[in-house]
Amino acid sequence: MSLKQYQTKRDFSKTPEPAGGQATPGRGAARLRFVVHKHQASRLHYDFRLEMDGVLKSWAVPKGPSVDPADKRLAVMVEDHPLEYRDFEGAIPEPEYGAGTVMIWDEGTYQVIGAESGAEALAKGALKVDLAGRKLIGGWALVRTKWRGEDKNWLLIKEKDDHAQPGRDVLAESPRSARSGRTMEDIAALAE
Ligand code: MN
Repeated sequence: MSLKQYQTKRDFSKTPEPAGGQATPGRGAARLRFVVHKHQASRLHYDFRLEMDGVLKSWAVPKGPSVDPADKRLAVMVEDHPLEYRDFEGAIPEPEYGAGTVMIWDEGTYQVIGAESGAEALAKGALKVDLAGRKLIGGWALVRTKWRGEDKNWLLIKEKDDHAQPGRDVLAESPRSARSGRTMEDIAALAE
């Protein structure tokens, strides 16, 4: 797991995002963290990030996560981010990579379900996680879809469990930061 791609895309003298050093593995598997960023870049999207082997494995989810098991949300795997990124909430200035407002929309811990490790499940293209967040709770599946030879595309799907909420729009109902309670407008204004 390398942060090289993350680092080469960004100028850390211009963006407030963390530079990250080396990947920092060896924390043990007990309490892995996850974060979901709400990111108003050229397009609004959500970034789903799971701590794994010292980095944040990351997917851009154009429509955001859903608590309705009927929704299959496209999740495009992007470059690994440094662990410190889970604490990033702020604004990336133009014309830097990903310019726009970034909110910690949800955060918490997670466990891998039904596999020895997250990395093993990712390699197989099917990862199940149990999330203990503020907004996202219970099981989700990430399933890789091979489409036109692309292997970056995954689907993020709520499991049918006690925490599933068919028909509910958690993005609209809970729009504020799980960390600070701020709105996207608050975060943008604070960065000016
Ligand atoms: Mn993003």
